[in-house]
Amino acid sequence: MLQLRVRRFRCRNTVSLRRTFVEQIPGLTRRYGQRTERLRSTLAAVGLALAGRAGPRLAAVLGISVSRGTVLRLVDALPEPGVPAPRVVGVDEYATRKGRHYGTVLVDVETRRPIDLLPDREASSLAAWLAQRPGVEVVCRDRAPFFAEGATAGAPQAVQVADRWHLWHNLSEAAERSVAQHRRCLSVLTPASRQPETEAVPAADPSASPWPRGHRFADRTRARHAAVHALLKAGHRQRSVRCQLGMTWRSVKQCADVAMPEELFTGQWQNRPSVLDDHKPYLDDRWYEGCANTRKLWEEIVPLGYKGSYQQVRAYLHDKRTSPRPVTAPPPSLRTVAGWILRNPDALTESEQLQLKAVRTRCPELDALTRRFRSFAAMLTGGQGERLPDWLGTVRQGDPPSLHTLASGIDRDRDAVIAGLTMPWNSGVVEGHVSRIKMLERQMFGRAGFALLGKRALLAS
Ligand SMILES: [Zn+2]
Repeated sequence: MLQLRVRRFRCRNTVSLRRTFVEQIPGLTRRYGQRTERLRSTLAAVGLALAGRAGPRLAAVLGISVSRGTVLRLVDALPEPGVPAPRVVGVDEYATRKGRHYGTVLVDVETRRPIDLLPDREASSLAAWLAQRPGVEVVCRDRAPFFAEGATAGAPQAVQVADRWHLWHNLSEAAERSVAQHRRCLSVLTPASRQPETEAVPAADPSASPWPRGHRFADRTRARHAAVHALLKAGHRQRSVRCQLGMTWRSVKQCADVAMPEELFTGQWQNRPSVLDDHKPYLDDRWYEGCANTRKLWEEIVPLGYKGSYQQVRAYLHDKRTSPRPVTAPPPSLRTVAGWILRNPDALTESEQLQLKAVRTRCPELDALTRRFRSFAAMLTGGQGERLPDWLGTVRQGDPPSLHTLASGIDRDRDAVIAGLTMPWNSGVVEGHVSRIKMLERQMFGRAGFALLGKRALLAS
């Protein structure tokens, strides 16, 4: 128990609203305080770690009864962290609201701590932020144009560094695109005798229905059909069936009129134009190359603009499965082949090396691609940014043409890329904070106010 003696001051000025003032003990009491400073800071720490709902729940376990609002208010009242002026700043974007909105996160690369969060990813916001910190010497960023622009405007004195990870990521995407264009050249990898790989297909449909089991719509219709017929068989009238199942008069009648649920599907699927139509030639192509894996094919057509459902792809392939199978084995996936091209040749297994060799012999463009990428990798690991102009020159003059876009993109950002290949800085630490912010957002069910998110991102690390 602490016994305190404090002074109370009286104000004689009658105009003043407050008449008395009580002395506070810093770090122990505060005006209108309902809890000790220690409890306050405990609750604020709980709020930082867990935020809205989970915070009060943990507090209750610890024997503290507190509301969600109070916890959030305590977090909100925490002072802004005083951050020393950074020298090397990493900048990246983070997504909010399920990727429909982006913000900017700034990290001190040297201390590995987040410095600030900006509510958008505009060049102007970044520029304004940097302009207030003239001590910034290096800005690490990805190759997004708004960050390049913002850094140039806000910190003209700073060296911009294109992050190596992002660079390599751009290269891998280009590799996958090129390999996709040369899909047919991969047929050298396909021995003629093997069976196509298939996904684990559930036991064949007993009804030979065109709609596979597991399809949401088909299963629901089957269940309804069965329920309607069971009730009718038990002697209920259609009207009573309608009430019991909560169905419309029309749908009860439709179910009652047909003997098999499959009859309800006709017309629903057969001749209607489908969002899949545009992609059927591609699927057929891949099918005859031996790829029968629904998920893989689905993953391949989604980036090509397919907007329909996975089930539609599955139903289409199910149809094909009942027709005679292709005898060729599947070639390795595009990503696998791209991986061989991108990886360090010493890290490839013997069989991978042989397969890559076969592809390179068959296709001069993929051969050229492999050589370009390996020389880029050598620059990257050897820190030899000064060789970049030569590399760009070779790429832009020669094969494969698919790399020309990549090369001109890099050329527009040449200085930053050279710095990225040469200087030790990179924004790997920024990536870590981006995923941490994502975790914080998820914990708050994506409804976090920006201020609260910022507080938690900066203080709870
Ligand atoms: Zn080719």
